[in-house]
Amino acid sequence: MGDIQRYDVIIIGAGPAGSSTARVIARRGYRTLLVERKSRVGIPVLCGEFLPTVEELRDILPHSSRIDRICNISNSVVLNRCNHIVLVSPSGDEFDIPMRAIVIDRAAFDQHLAEQALKAGAILLTGTKLKDRVSKNQVRLISGSGTRIVECAVLVGADGPLSTVARCVPGLSQQETNDLSISIQYTIEATGFDSDRVFMFFGNIAPGGYAWIIPRGHTEANVGLGLRPSYATPRRSLRNYLHSFIHHYLIEKLGIRNIRIKRRISGFIPVNGPVQSTVTATALLVGDAASHVMPTNGGGIPTALIGGNIAGKAIVDYLKSGSKLSNYEEMWRREFGNELITGASLLSVASIPMLSDAVTEWAMRCFGRRMLNDVIRCRVPYPFQELSTPLNLMTGQLHRFLR
Ligand SMILES: Cc1cc2nc3c(=O)[nH]c(=O)nc-3n(C[C@H](O)[C@H](O)[C@H](O)COP(=O)(O)OP(=O)(O)OC[C@H]3O[C@@H](n4cnc5c(N)ncnc54)[C@H](O)[C@@H]3O)c2cc1C
Repeated sequence: MGDIQRYDVIIIGAGPAGSSTARVIARRGYRTLLVERKSRVGIPVLCGEFLPTVEELRDILPHSSRIDRICNISNSVVLNRCNHIVLVSPSGDEFDIPMRAIVIDRAAFDQHLAEQALKAGAILLTGTKLKDRVSKNQVRLISGSGTRIVECAVLVGADGPLSTVARCVPGLSQQETNDLSISIQYTIEATGFDSDRVFMFFGNIAPGGYAWIIPRGHTEANVGLGLRPSYATPRRSLRNYLHSFIHHYLIEKLGIRNIRIKRRISGFIPVNGPVQSTVTATALLVGDAASHVMPTNGGGIPTALIGGNIAGKAIVDYLKSGSKLSNYEEMWRREFGNELITGASLLSVASIPMLSDAVTEWAMRCFGRRMLNDVIRCRVPYPFQELSTPLNLMTGQLHRFLR
């Protein structure tokens, strides 16, 4: 027992959620350990790298008071700026939605956030993985040099989808595989990308989800798709879906030429709305581990940053004055809970037409540009806002029934 190291807070995962949480706590002088299983923070990148600007985020998450402070991204990691999202129906109809956004170098961004946490005083262990919890306050870490047991007052699960922390700590909700969209993405070098427009394609090319083209500039883009396995053709691989999308849309329709694949990734996106319980007396979940992702657009970076800041503040208050850690859950629900729950409800309803190209086509035309704009911003479309509460209640019941 003599060589067990003790920390005030141990944070598992040095993504945007973990590093943001660590920074707030370490800055107040608490012993903070940040544990990351990758040998280099941010690599490999698992992201489309798309981020709405601060002005757009104020509109998408109107109850959050920290956007200006937390989501103001350093120019040094910005690769491209765009002004439109174009939603494309199965027949090729385009719905052009104005949205100011940046495309970031996600590896550099994650490294920048981790450096800020280190500057604030946090200790970072890379190449080190949380294996399990050995007692209420102790966890076992494993790295190339063996296993070690460390102790903390508060444990934070910022370890992404299918969180190990959620699995280890009784009282925290675990995600189900049904809650996740599976995704694949290539970063492609080619000529002819429109650097001002992000494209989202709907229909059988990505059943229950969508395919995307996110330009990193004129000559490079992240091209990928996310789908729900229960909607997809059995035994058809994700790779096969992506290759068919690249062939039909990128090459044949958009005329993109001289394609070279620079990077291939695949991962999970939690799109079913926030998990039920994100906090216990001494542990909490933040970011993707808590399913803090905007369900209708798949964006989780802003909510990971805001959630991380809230988690850090709640932990500091807990350590300093003994206030309840459960304040964390109240705070994130107040700042962005409604938008995530509404987004999940909208996605459940939208999933019904997504079963066929013909109905997706019909639904997109009926909705039109204005309503689609509301849906991708996770809000019930005008003039049906009044239906927001009954819609959330109804889809909440449906989720519980389906589980
Ligand atoms: C293909 C794809 C495209 C996406 N595109 C976008 C986009 O364009 N815009 C957007 O806003 N969001 C996007 N997202 C979602 C976004 O990437 C996440 O919401 C965001 O990364 C959440 O941050 P996080 O810190 O919670 O989790 P992560 O960034 O996943 O960080 C979790 C960290 O925990 C580490 N970890 C996991 N388990 C352990 C363990 N046991 N021990 C130690 N470390 C562990 C992981 O290595 C990882 O570094 C995309 C996701 C995918 C998969």
